[in-house]
Amino acid sequence: MRNSTVIFATNNQHKVEEIRAITGTQFNIITLKEAGINIDIPEPHNTIQENASEKSNTIFKLTKQNCFGEDTGLEVEALNGEPGVKSARYAGDEKNFEANIDKLLSKLNGIKHRNAQFKTVISLMWDAKEYLFEGVTKGKIINERRGKNGFGYDAVFMPEDSNKTFGEMEMAEKNLLSHRRKATDKLIEFLKQQ
Ligand code: IMP
Repeated sequence: MRNSTVIFATNNQHKVEEIRAITGTQFNIITLKEAGINIDIPEPHNTIQENASEKSNTIFKLTKQNCFGEDTGLEVEALNGEPGVKSARYAGDEKNFEANIDKLLSKLNGIKHRNAQFKTVISLMWDAKEYLFEGVTKGKIINERRGKNGFGYDAVFMPEDSNKTFGEMEMAEKNLLSHRRKATDKLIEFLKQQ
């Protein structure tokens, strides 16, 4: 790989920690803060992919450097894919994780069908061209919070073939099977070939 520095277009420290733990030291992933950029990138679109593209394109226009953006949504079958692209702001613009979970659990109150999936799309701007990588992890929403680890909806999401929520897992365990892991593996494969 020629130049291994890539800016990660996010202000979410949880995402940075997870992705750095997955990539290890093989690439130099720097955050917006480390790149000296202080902006909150808007997520104005109706799809996860478009919002991921918005993030990478915004930072590419500013810096002309290789960079990637990531957008993730929780899609709940019984709620027709909600909260989906609105996952961060489900209960309001203040992006409050606890209020978002409360709203989700109350909407699912009494509903037995609790299948859900996390979907991550990474949009990479590499040599001024865009490449997309997707990762999906299927599971279900349980009835109450379990575990204090992770962030967002982790305490109520139990991945398939597991009896723990993401919130009950150490990061390394979540990183073995998460949506972000699957998308990041594809990003790594691409970067290794450059
Ligand atoms: P965004 O990709 O920053 O727009 O994130 C959307 C929202 O989805 C976040 O605010 C979190 O609530 C939630 N989210 C994203 N990734 C995860 C995850 O890995 N676990 C749990 N919740 C997540």
